[in-house]
Amino acid sequence: MKPAAFEYHRPVDLQSALALLSQHEEASVLAGGQSLVPMMNYRLAQPDHLVDINRIAELDFIREEGDEIVIGALARHATIQSSPLIAERLPLIAHSYEWIAHAAVRNRGTLCGNLCHADPASEMPALMQVLEAEMVLASAHGRRQVPAVNFFTGTYETARAAGEMLVEVRIRKPATGSGWGFEEVSMRKGDFAWVAIGCMLRVDSGVLTDLRISAAGVGDCAQRLSAMEQALQGQVPCADLFESAAQDAAAALDPLETASVSAAYRRDLVCALTPRALNAAVARVT
Ligand SMILES: Cc1cc2nc3c(=O)[nH]c(=O)nc-3n(C[C@H](O)[C@H](O)[C@H](O)COP(=O)(O)OP(=O)(O)OC[C@H]3O[C@@H](n4cnc5c(N)ncnc54)[C@H](O)[C@@H]3O)c2cc1C
Repeated sequence: MKPAAFEYHRPVDLQSALALLSQHEEASVLAGGQSLVPMMNYRLAQPDHLVDINRIAELDFIREEGDEIVIGALARHATIQSSPLIAERLPLIAHSYEWIAHAAVRNRGTLCGNLCHADPASEMPALMQVLEAEMVLASAHGRRQVPAVNFFTGTYETARAAGEMLVEVRIRKPATGSGWGFEEVSMRKGDFAWVAIGCMLRVDSGVLTDLRISAAGVGDCAQRLSAMEQALQGQVPCADLFESAAQDAAAALDPLETASVSAAYRRDLVCALTPRALNAAVARVT
């Protein structure tokens, strides 16, 4: 199939892009095109105007700013995956990329495009919640920051308003002594997750603290497992504890039922993957 007719714009600076988005409120941003172009070809998306941001060099960066790592709208998955800064400061992201799409897709696709697409089975939204990332949205009228936990609002839905662009993601560097874990089951490596679990934690005086656990592929968008986080807070880490907490968490979930993966199987995956991610995180605590 071919896309419906649209008007194409290729601004070379952010201000012009934001002006175009403000003039054409139903416009779509074109980043890597890895999700948008197939959706347009299937006519699941029919934007009247496309604002191609690929020539806006000021959006192509990964940098350290004080205690934060900042990733711009044009940073490609492959660049982030191979960045020494990300490997050193945010190893959870570097490690997890192995499960996200295929090399050809990662070469073009961007993290910000991935987050705006907000596929419920996408791993990065869950990891942004674990890392308590802040989404920086810009429009012709100014900027605002939305925490990742409030950004994903439903299947392919985010808190981004018409006329806004996600210009960067800001992630605070994890505290010294943090451990992280990531586990996923999908049909094949590089496919969207049936279920993926990411977590971060610290162990202070022998007990768990600062727990953040998030799941992809369970509900209509990434979700923090807050009740489980609270139940584990202050406990001495051990495999049995993680298993029983995961069973309680899974029992309280209402997972998606799809043609290829039943809700019951997704619940089983939460039970199996969450303790593995937590055990790995404890083992990584420095
Ligand atoms: C074969 C295949 C396998 C894949 N497997 C996975 C996988 O396992 N896990 C996974 O997470 N993803 C997977 N993906 C999706 C991939 O990660 C995409 O790159 C990503 O979802 C979209 O990024 P993009 O830069 O290509 O965005 P685009 O396709 O250009 O845009 C996607 C959406 O986001 C909007 N958008 C893009 N950038 C911005 C911005 N800066 N501000 C506001 N709106 C914006 C667009 O308007 C559009 O609605 C796969 C894709 C393919 C084709």
